[in-house]
Amino acid sequence: MGVHLPAQGGDAACGATIGGMGTGTAVVAAYVPAGELARAGGDHRTAFARYEWLLRPFAQRCQKGGDRTGRFFAPRWAIGARTRDAMLRRPALLALMLRAGEQVAGVDLPTYPPAAALD
Ligand SMILES: Cc1cc2nc3c(=O)[nH]c(=O)nc-3n(C[C@H](O)[C@H](O)[C@H](O)COP(=O)(O)OP(=O)(O)OC[C@H]3O[C@@H](n4cnc5c(N)ncnc54)[C@H](O)[C@@H]3O)c2cc1C
Repeated sequence: MGVHLPAQGGDAACGATIGGMGTGTAVVAAYVPAGELARAGGDHRTAFARYEWLLRPFAQRCQKGGDRTGRFFAPRWAIGARTRDAMLRRPALLALMLRAGEQVAGVDLPTYPPAAALD
């Protein structure tokens, strides 16, 4: 008897919430399995395998970014909180951090045909 697991998306699949990627990973992890299911004619084995292959490296990068961001925003020590506050008051440093986040979160997504074209 096989074990059947549903495909997961968003926080359940990527768990990259606090890096500021949570909404992005949720949207991407809804778009890709939907597109792959349509492309595979509903064959979930093919679709979910491709979903994982396409998004695993992206999700792992986002998770790593989330780990770092979590420690930055919720530091263990008071000095960490003071450093964080000082950094967030400097627009140039803030811009650098946002740029670093963009590099982590970049992902090339397939273009799927419109649903009507798949019928
Ligand atoms: C304080 C805070 C700030 C954030 N800021 C940002 C930000 O600036 N940028 C960003 O990109 N992301 C941010 N995030 C993360 C982002 O909100 C989440 O990553 C994103 O909402 C995940 O979407 P999701 O659909 O996977 O999960 P959710 O939005 O958590 O949706 C899951 C849904 O499932 C429902 N549910 C759970 N269990 C069951 C069940 N058994 N049966 C039925 N329904 C169930 C829940 O009620 C919920 O409605 C932030 C998160 C927090 C908490």
